[in-house]
Amino acid sequence: MSAISNAITDLALKDIEELVEALGEPQYRVNQILSGVYQKLAVSYNEMTDLPVSLRQRLENTIPLHSLTQVQKLISKDGTVKVLFRLKDGKTIEAALMLYSAGAGRPRTTVCLSTQVGCPIGCPFCATGQQGFERNLTPGEMIDQVLYFAREVRKDGEENRHSHITNIVFMGMGEPLANYEALMQAIDMLTSPRCFGTSPRNIIISTAGLVPLIQRLSKEKIKVGIAVSLHASDNKLRNRLVPLNKRYPLEELIPACTEYAKKTGRRVSFEYILFAGINDSLAQAKALAVLLSGTNCHVNLIPANRTTNAGFQPPSRNKVLAFEKELELAGINCTLRLSRGQDINAGCGQLRSSYIAGI
Ligand code: SF4
Repeated sequence: MSAISNAITDLALKDIEELVEALGEPQYRVNQILSGVYQKLAVSYNEMTDLPVSLRQRLENTIPLHSLTQVQKLISKDGTVKVLFRLKDGKTIEAALMLYSAGAGRPRTTVCLSTQVGCPIGCPFCATGQQGFERNLTPGEMIDQVLYFAREVRKDGEENRHSHITNIVFMGMGEPLANYEALMQAIDMLTSPRCFGTSPRNIIISTAGLVPLIQRLSKEKIKVGIAVSLHASDNKLRNRLVPLNKRYPLEELIPACTEYAKKTGRRVSFEYILFAGINDSLAQAKALAVLLSGTNCHVNLIPANRTTNAGFQPPSRNKVLAFEKELELAGINCTLRLSRGQDINAGCGQLRSSYIAGI
């Protein structure tokens, strides 16, 4: 069993097999437990009615079912739901649910989850970066964010087009690759058909650019997508916006991403938050196109969230459109993304910041 087991979701498959054996139960109980936790989304062991009452009781006495408590829940006008959770040690994290309609196609119901309490990278425009780093999340603390929202969307029933989680993005608080082992265990459980069963194709890991771990991830059996927080096309500006760049500069990061795309067959996304007067000029768009030419990539342009740090405001609509056009003219695939949930502090770490400020 893992060193820190806050909840049954902290256990890998082999740990659950060991637990069932230690409880003197036959191995077919493993699948019953997995189905209760990950598919039927039980809120108590008592709901797992295919287990004998005595086993439910022993599980209850052995390991909690959940690791999170909801502290605050905000719903945006655009449907984004942001939740602040308390962990067993009293620390708080946040996660969001985003609903995307797709016309007549299949709608996407995406959970954006946190991987650390705070973040060690310290990007100056990010509320989480300003909170410092406290600790890594356990696999169960990540998984429980997904299971929480899976229960929420299921409650709304079949008439709702968003009745189950289709996509999982590790883009909340923290640098996911800096919590590598726990992240991989969480992904293993979330993609296993015996557990939550999400396709790896629908999973994206965000990273500020930890080059050795991008290389390690490219060799994993489960091929997930990566979204690299770029935000600048030269080292001088990126050193300021994403301080990790001082350790892994662009001349190491971009080849690592190209290699990732080759090895995994997954196109790499580059996230570029546009800040007025900082990284939004046409010259910077041209430099970005040159930097990324020849890579199998897609750029997500995201105008900064208006509620973030006063020094990092979004450019005008015209500036944003001109930047996008410049990239397109240079043949770079790009999409202009809206910042979602602006009315509910949905920028990374903002809800937690306002909560901490208020206590
Ligand atoms: S933007 Fe991401 S990597 Fe940078 S401090 Fe915030 S959470 Fe960390």
